[in-house]
Amino acid sequence: MRKIGPGEKLVLASHNQGKLREIEALLRPLGIDVVSAGALGLPEPVEDAPDFAGNARIKALAAATATGLPALSDDSGFCVAALNGDPGVLSARWAGPSKDFAAAMALVHERMGSAVDASAWFVAALCLAWPDGHTETFLGRIDGTGVWPPRGTRGFGYDPMFVPDGGTVTFGEMDPDEKHAMSHRARAFKQMMEACFG
Ligand code: IMP
Repeated sequence: MRKIGPGEKLVLASHNQGKLREIEALLRPLGIDVVSAGALGLPEPVEDAPDFAGNARIKALAAATATGLPALSDDSGFCVAALNGDPGVLSARWAGPSKDFAAAMALVHERMGSAVDASAWFVAALCLAWPDGHTETFLGRIDGTGVWPPRGTRGFGYDPMFVPDGGTVTFGEMDPDEKHAMSHRARAFKQMMEACFG
């Protein structure tokens, strides 16, 4: 297992502001010198893998190869049991080019129709890639319920329509620190930290 230590530079292979904020907050305490793919002017590669881990690998490898630096990517999404796991890897695409997540949540609600099972979950795949093509991938998941109407203005994406198991408020209503402590991303992060950092 390869390691990344304090003072090392790491490219965050994401153009999603919500994710960048969350990942930077998690890496800053470790003394990692984080720079985003957007700040370096890197193009966004086509994410055409059938699963989260495959897409994370595409993004991290593209950034590592283009910069000659280790790169970290996050591919994540919202999955609904009644929709056979959709929107899943297409979570960003359901919001369209204008990234309209109110519309994406309305589409989830519409497609769920009168489904009795409102189970839903978020998945995050984190991939660390090095310029020589080596990769390490970590998966995290949090289960809960899809709710309607959406509630809360914090977080991003599908947060306002998700209540984690054991809770009463949505990710959109929750204090960000509370979300970061339990989220799919935090769970994948914990594994990655233990394996590759420090
Ligand atoms: P990606 O950039 O292809 O990985 O897109 C992931 C999409 O999944 C995001 O644009 C969000 O819509 C959704 N998503 C991922 N993680 C979260 C989260 O923590 N909260 C809300 N939505 C999320």
